[in-house]
Amino acid sequence: MEFNETSISALRRQFGGEVVTASEEGYDAARRVWNAMIDRRPAIIVRPRDAADVTTAVNFARDQRLPLAIRGGAHSVAGMGTCDEGIVIDFSSMKKITVDPEKRIARAEPGVKWVEFDTATQAHGLATTGGTVGDTGIAGLTLGGGFGWLEGTCGMTVDNLLAADVVLANGERVRASADENADLFWALRGGGGNFGVVTAFEYRLHAIGPTIVGGMVVHPYSAARDVLKFYRSLLKTAPDPLTAAAAILTGPDGHKACAIVCAYAGPIEQGQEAVRAIKAFGSPVMDVIGPIPYVGQQSLLEQSMPPNVRNYWKAEFLDDLTDGFIDTWVDAYSRVVSPMSFQLLFPIHGVAARLARDATAFPNRGGIHLGIYALWKPGEADEPNVKWVRDTWQRIRPFASGGLYVNEIGGDDGHDRVQQAYGANYARLALIKAKYDPANLFRFNANIEPAAV
Ligand SMILES: Cc1cc2nc3c(=O)[nH]c(=O)nc-3n(C[C@H](O)[C@H](O)[C@H](O)COP(=O)(O)OP(=O)(O)OC[C@H]3O[C@@H](n4cnc5c(N)ncnc54)[C@H](O)[C@@H]3O)c2cc1C
Repeated sequence: MEFNETSISALRRQFGGEVVTASEEGYDAARRVWNAMIDRRPAIIVRPRDAADVTTAVNFARDQRLPLAIRGGAHSVAGMGTCDEGIVIDFSSMKKITVDPEKRIARAEPGVKWVEFDTATQAHGLATTGGTVGDTGIAGLTLGGGFGWLEGTCGMTVDNLLAADVVLANGERVRASADENADLFWALRGGGGNFGVVTAFEYRLHAIGPTIVGGMVVHPYSAARDVLKFYRSLLKTAPDPLTAAAAILTGPDGHKACAIVCAYAGPIEQGQEAVRAIKAFGSPVMDVIGPIPYVGQQSLLEQSMPPNVRNYWKAEFLDDLTDGFIDTWVDAYSRVVSPMSFQLLFPIHGVAARLARDATAFPNRGGIHLGIYALWKPGEADEPNVKWVRDTWQRIRPFASGGLYVNEIGGDDGHDRVQQAYGANYARLALIKAKYDPANLFRFNANIEPAAV
């Protein structure tokens, strides 16, 4: 069938949710994603109501040979949740969450964002490892791995995925879990959106909060080298429940600064003991570490990463924070262009680091995730901000371990970087891709090429 008004009318008849085309009101709002650098014009955006609608959309894209992008929370900085001239399945209308407090399981649809998930689960004093900015979607984050404040005791988000309902490239609806389609289940836990469209996620929950110990201490930029050396020793001694990140940023007062942001996923008294050394170190200009609602911790970084801003990022992993790295890392921020830009170190530690690299498709079981994040306002020049990230990246690359987080692959990263992100799991993923999506229908992602079988 040729793709034209007639075929779109046929789609509208079968599809229960909303269908938005380029000529319709609301199209510009519907095509917008989180990163304002991404400006794509899909032919059709569909908002499914349920898995049956998703099947209709997948069949339509396949039969019409249309590019197909899948969008959960729209936070892919590379813009992988959209495409030009194709069809976007936008999950913003599928947001149901059910929590079973007895079994400690949550079932959530792919339009859910972490703030919504955390609010629903915290109503029962439960949580699972999720993104550190509440506006981020559960879908893309889960499928790529998911690091967050609870990872030290609860593991990565993927480690808490118990099952997923999936629409495959051939339109078939299956369930993936340890007992059903186990190869697919393995691949979904770190292999991104390569294997099918997930219409529901089931997560294991843990007793957390509602109040934990968390927050941040902020030091002047002039102390950044000493703070990061302290942070290095902290990472070596921190107990599993204490997850600590280190940022170099510009504060609201316009001054550059170095912050340690942390959370303790356990009892408050133990948390207060665990953060004592962080609070005692040096002469912070601000210390807001203390008891905080878990949902408050989850929105702590919200304002530093607002929507509708232009973004360009690069990421790597490190095995260790050497003196040479720390010098280069601190110096790089002296050349930052936009005060919204920052650099972040986030360890993969505790339970998240103790799983084998091939236990799930997510291979980065250890080390420190490093992000160079340029953010600037629309209207400001792109080029100097992008250049700052690229220059910083080139300077720190000699210290990198070779790992890469699939969810932070940039739009201009080549296939070598995609393979780097999957590491030794790539070959197995390519075989599973050949089984479930041999024609590579799902290719707007950190794409795994189907193995020749
Ligand atoms: C502000 C911000 C904060 C972040 N913080 C963290 C963090 O703390 N921890 C962390 O691990 N990561 C973090 N990330 C990275 C984050 O994991 C990725 O951006 C992730 O892609 C976001 O998921 P999404 O659903 O919002 O993205 P989308 O852009 O909607 O989707 C990204 C990709 O995921 C796949 N996908 C989405 N939904 C489905 C589905 N239903 N079925 C199949 N495939 C699907 C598709 O391939 C899609 O292209 C952050 C990103 C941002 C922008």
